[in-house]
Amino acid sequence: MKILVPVKRVIDYNVRIRVKPDHSGVETANVKMSMNPFDEIAVEEAVRLKEKGKATEVVAVSIGPAQAQDTLRTAMAIGADRALQILADGDIEPLAVAKILKAVAGREAPQMVILGKQAIDDDSAQTGQMLAALLGWPQATFASTVEITEDRVLVTREVDGGHQTLELTLPAVVTTDLRLNEPRYASLPNIMKAKKKPLESLPVAEFGVDTSPRLTLVKVEEPSVRQAGKRVQSVAELVDKLRNEAKVI
Ligand code: AMP
Repeated sequence: MKILVPVKRVIDYNVRIRVKPDHSGVETANVKMSMNPFDEIAVEEAVRLKEKGKATEVVAVSIGPAQAQDTLRTAMAIGADRALQILADGDIEPLAVAKILKAVAGREAPQMVILGKQAIDDDSAQTGQMLAALLGWPQATFASTVEITEDRVLVTREVDGGHQTLELTLPAVVTTDLRLNEPRYASLPNIMKAKKKPLESLPVAEFGVDTSPRLTLVKVEEPSVRQAGKRVQSVAELVDKLRNEAKVI
C-alpha cells in the first residue's frame, strides 16, 4: 500500500508572527520556516504504518517555492521514501492545492492520503476535505488513531464528550489531529540518508490547474494588546472592583 503525504512549508510555530506595516499579510522575510506541525504528524503516522508492515511506500509531496525542498528532505529524514516537489510561486489556495493533489493521486495511485488537519499559516482546514470530494474517496478528519485492516482503515476521532470510530474503505483520505502521535526527531544519520533519497521537481503548470487566487485578503491585524492585570488585597476589594470598575456584577 502506497501512502501519499502532502506537507506544507510554513512559518515555524515558535516564531512570533509580525504583521506587515501595510496590513497586507505577515512578514516572511528572514523568518524561520518549518514543516507544518500537523504534517509532521502525518509523515510520522505513514512511516509507522510502513514500519508495521501495513504500507510499502511513503511519498511526500509539497506545493510551493523551491525552498520547500527542505521540508521534503525533513519528511524523508523522518522516513518517507521519496518526494515530489511541485514548484509554484505565491500563495496557493486550498482548492487549487486539492486539485493539484488530485492530479498527483492520479499519477501515484496511493491507497491513502494523510494530510494535516490544518496548515498553521492560513488555518483553512479545507484541503483534505476538498481533496476527498474531488477524488470521490471517503474521508476521516481529525484522526487520533489510524489502523489498517485488510482493505479498510479504522479511524478514531475525538468528538465532544468521547471518541468516534469510523471505518472507511480504501482508498481514503485521512487528516491528522494533534494527539495522533509524537513525531520522532530526525537523527543525523537519517538527515544524511535523506539527502540521497529521490526528489522529483515538477513545475505546477504540468498539472493544468488554475492556481489564480479566488479570495482577496482584505487585511491582517495583530490581536488587540491585553491590558495588564491588577492585584487585589482582599475579596471585598475584588467585589468592589467588579461592581464599580468593571461593572460586571
Ligand atoms: P489547509 O487546508 O490549508 O489548512 O491545509 C491542510 C493540509 O493540507 C496541510 O496540513 C497539508 O497537509 C496540506 N496542504 C496544504 N497546502 C499544501 C501545500 N502547499 N503543499 C502540500 N500540502 C499542502
